[in-house]
Amino acid sequence: MIVKPLEVSKHILQMEALNRRLPAVHPLKETVNGQARILRAGHNGEAALQFPLDFLSYDDFLIFYHLRIPDANGYFQIDALLLCNNFILIIEVKNIDGEVYFDDMGQSVRKKEGKEDSLTNPIEQIKLQHVRLLRWLRNFDFPAIPIEKIAVYTQKTLLKDFTSEKTIKNSVMRMDKLLSRIEEIQLEYTKSCLTDNQVNELAIHLLSAHTDETLHVLDKYKISFEELLKGVICPICMAVPMIRAGGKWKCNVCQQTSKTAHRKDLDDYALLINEYIGNKETRDFLLLASVNIAKNLLNEYPKRGNNSGRKYYLK
Ligand SMILES: [Zn+2]
Repeated sequence: MIVKPLEVSKHILQMEALNRRLPAVHPLKETVNGQARILRAGHNGEAALQFPLDFLSYDDFLIFYHLRIPDANGYFQIDALLLCNNFILIIEVKNIDGEVYFDDMGQSVRKKEGKEDSLTNPIEQIKLQHVRLLRWLRNFDFPAIPIEKIAVYTQKTLLKDFTSEKTIKNSVMRMDKLLSRIEEIQLEYTKSCLTDNQVNELAIHLLSAHTDETLHVLDKYKISFEELLKGVICPICMAVPMIRAGGKWKCNVCQQTSKTAHRKDLDDYALLINEYIGNKETRDFLLLASVNIAKNLLNEYPKRGNNSGRKYYLK
């Protein structure tokens, strides 16, 4: 069964909100846009993994997507972890366009459009995850359990192995080979190491250790509120700002109208600035002149405080 389903992380939503609100001419636009795309591609890779894993017998495994666990060196992240009585399997997902090859010098190289880039070697990456998970497990009194690991590439990647190592064949593969590899691992580990109770107990430890990444992206990139685009962004053509008239937002570029376009912009505010907003901040952020219109828009959110100190909760 899926114990921890895959969700879009707050970090991705924050980076996408920042990208949306950064003017095209901003010096950090390219960096932020690139980072938001990398994070989304990583998430899409993890999402693609759900398809093969859905074919596993749900009684056999507990599945955790996207675990981020604190240890002495910070946090280690596991894209998917499969837990059963006999073994633990770590899966690292790579969503990379183009051709990726491995050579005898331990390099992993991506070839795309005639250009070659050196990538983080997934073998070293999963080895490190293994070591960190093993160390973390020693905090508890569980009997020893084998840990297996696989780096899996989405279907966009063409993999080539120029090494003589067996490790690569067994631990690096495209997604279409994943299920047969899991079957092989199941046949290899037939001895039960953990009781059902211990498996459940370990699952609870994993869930409670998981810590979402929380960060203030404006601080991270040293971007001030003043530098952000203000106003309601047109959901169709992305022009800004839409104009409020007759109870609707109207885009002067594509003529689209919407009653609820501001919700997305208030989501951006919550992700980038604060989950609580007052009437004046709403007018500043949405470029509204009217106190009453701002009040009407905010009425659908839970509120706290009175009069000028009133804040609305944007979740
Ligand atoms: Zn428009």
